[in-house]
Amino acid sequence: MVESSFLNPFCDEALNIVRNQADLSIVFDVDSRLVDIISFSPHQNLSDESYIPENIINLALKRIKWYIERKNNKEYNSHDYAYLFVEDISFYDVIVFHLTAQAIAYKFNFNSREMRLFVQSQGQIIEDRLGSLMLSEKRELTEDILGELMVSGTVEWTFLKDIISSKKLSLTDLLIDNGEVILDRDEFIYRFEDKFEDRSVSKMYDVLVGDNVKEEVLKNLIMQKTEEYIQNIQEKSHLIEPHPSILTLADEIEKTIDEEMTKYSTFYANVNSPGGYMEIGKLVKEAFPPCIKNTIEGVSSGGRNDAIVLFLTSFASYARLYPGIFANEGANIKVSDIDKNLDITEREILPLIFEAADNCTPPLFEDQPQEKINIISKLGFGMHSEVSLEHEGETKWYTPMSCEKVKIHLPQLCKKDKGCKGINNPLSYYTRAKWNLKKEGKLPDSNQSGNNSNSSGGD
Ligand code: SF4
Repeated sequence: MVESSFLNPFCDEALNIVRNQADLSIVFDVDSRLVDIISFSPHQNLSDESYIPENIINLALKRIKWYIERKNNKEYNSHDYAYLFVEDISFYDVIVFHLTAQAIAYKFNFNSREMRLFVQSQGQIIEDRLGSLMLSEKRELTEDILGELMVSGTVEWTFLKDIISSKKLSLTDLLIDNGEVILDRDEFIYRFEDKFEDRSVSKMYDVLVGDNVKEEVLKNLIMQKTEEYIQNIQEKSHLIEPHPSILTLADEIEKTIDEEMTKYSTFYANVNSPGGYMEIGKLVKEAFPPCIKNTIEGVSSGGRNDAIVLFLTSFASYARLYPGIFANEGANIKVSDIDKNLDITEREILPLIFEAADNCTPPLFEDQPQEKINIISKLGFGMHSEVSLEHEGETKWYTPMSCEKVKIHLPQLCKKDKGCKGINNPLSYYTRAKWNLKKEGKLPDSNQSGNNSNSSGGD
């Protein structure tokens, strides 16, 4: 029987492991039992020592690296991380999960890139571990854990709305009775025993409540609990002094994520040139298309709102942070994935937009101060007067307008020049013009090296 702790770091057994592992000073020591588990994991790649994390901290970092590689590396080899999917790793994995959650809670903001990545990695590891089990083991373990996680055998269907909107499940997959999703076998039998006179109610449960539904619910419940756990630590963080090992781990996590994300970064713009890719960098006004130059110089009443709030906000933010958006459409990117502390947004992007708003006739915020909130919302930070990580994700980061839309909605701004030939989006104009400036050695110094600031701060 596979133990719950293999999938559920919040089960009693897992919490006991954490309680008994009070000595955090040994997490940097070589752990021969851990090394043995890894070395004897079936199909584990042992061709190089670097594949073997030999202490708990290294295991925590490898777990993060695994997730980033699993998601981004086209040559990802599951044998490099086979040990993450053997049951014997559960003991160490539980410790690593709780240490990482604490490190993230102390060092990073709620909903930060680091936190989101960790929560998603937990969901992915559950999915992959379920996939590594035999069907009978998987069913038994899923039912046990759902029993542990849910107070009753049901959840309100609204709890599953995120899973449904992600299209992993459809409402028609769910068995809903009085607004509650029925997942538990006993609950099903209790509610529907009388309804199936000529068929086994237990068999009907297997048919109607599919494995996929239960596994998705399990995964999402643990991801949600992970978020709550981090939030809970953050709320109490002023009362407790974190152990130095946790702070060191937090620094190492930041370094690992920065390095890995840089390696697999899609924050580049394919400028359709033989040389290839333009790295992100400071905004180069010389490369702006005529429509953007005209917007920055100021727009008269009538087109002001759309020009500043919809057009310039999305253009300036993507041009500065993620010019490769159209090469990677569908990627669920947030501003803070690139501008971690929002420094670039606050110091470079918003000032440009606000300056353009001031240049309008009459100045946009003079008679319409609420448009500042609309600008913040178009960057993905909800309806608030300032950008903050806490509110990120409440609205969507609005993607840049195409030339076609500019011509329809803001025709007065589209004054084509020769750079517009063959272009269908002002952002493509910008990346191409910037690329040409770079080739000619005319980019300002801060951009000449292709300075890629997807870690923090600005460049
Ligand atoms: S063609 Fe496109 S890039 Fe050129 S000015 Fe018009 S909207 Fe801007």
